[in-house]
Amino acid sequence: MRRRTFLLRGAAAGVGFLASAGVRGQEGSGRTATELPVIISTWPFGKAANLEALQVLQSGGTALDAVERGVMTAEANPAISTVGYGGFPNRDGDVELDAAVFDGSTLDGGAVCALTGYRHPVQVARKVMENSPHLILVGQGARSFAEEQGFSAEETLSDGARAAYQKWLKKHPDRLGAPEGHDTLGQVALSSQGSIAAACTTSGMAWKLPGRVGDSPIVGHGLYADDSVGGCVATGMGEEISKVCGSFLVVERMRQGATPEEAIEEALDRILMRQGQNPAVQAAFVALSKSGAWGAGAIGSRFHYAITRGNQTEVIEVKPQKRRG
Ligand code: ASP
Repeated sequence: MRRRTFLLRGAAAGVGFLASAGVRGQEGSGRTATELPVIISTWPFGKAANLEALQVLQSGGTALDAVERGVMTAEANPAISTVGYGGFPNRDGDVELDAAVFDGSTLDGGAVCALTGYRHPVQVARKVMENSPHLILVGQGARSFAEEQGFSAEETLSDGARAAYQKWLKKHPDRLGAPEGHDTLGQVALSSQGSIAAACTTSGMAWKLPGRVGDSPIVGHGLYADDSVGGCVATGMGEEISKVCGSFLVVERMRQGATPEEAIEEALDRILMRQGQNPAVQAAFVALSKSGAWGAGAIGSRFHYAITRGNQTEVIEVKPQKRRG
């Protein structure tokens, strides 16, 4: 496909084209883009990430380049307290970052967990994928690898995060307060060539136990992609998302014919079955199918996602899904 903005005429014209393109029943009730590329991200700060990813695609980058560069926008922004520089630290005051990339064309990925001292864990994750024989590196090993790969160590505790930590410490001198706020930036991009890639980046839960890792850097939990089906990323309480292998579950249900929306509803139902409508638990997914259909869902309130199709980008609020029955 030579044109960068490929019009999905068939999606607009109806099922005939989709059937002839080998797409079976994935559109259903889901929303479907009529133009590629399509990029979807978690949270309102996903908008800046989508705009960056779009630019990367428009300048000839791959879907993997797009999601890597896309999520770096939040990693660099000290105003975002849940990702990268700006992310709140663990209960000892150390910022431990988790990130991953996954390439739906090759089913290859890379991840770092509890990385300290580097503001762009997603770049290190990509190097793990490309320059190591491994999928995941953690802690000191991830840090040494980042150094070997030529990344420069930097301060990762922003002034805002330091002030928030001091305040928390005053309230919890024993450092035993419950972990709080956590919003991962997850992004899935479908390029005009039909390649799908996903990335996640997060500082995890504020005041977490040192060494705690959530779903975000774990392939199949926080992210998954397969060019022959679609891609999905998650945000919310990693402990719950991981227990249902959330992103893999969504993609596999799409493989079986569910729309992205239906697949997400099912994954959220599994979490609701364990948790009920527990207001302390947020879990949300956004997903894209290979044909440009997308879906989003959450069990908690205030979840927003950013969607870009063609040149149009919007941030959309999602109504919380209720437990059925
Ligand atoms: N899923 C992330 C974690 O558990 C946090 C979030 O996205 O809210 O680390």
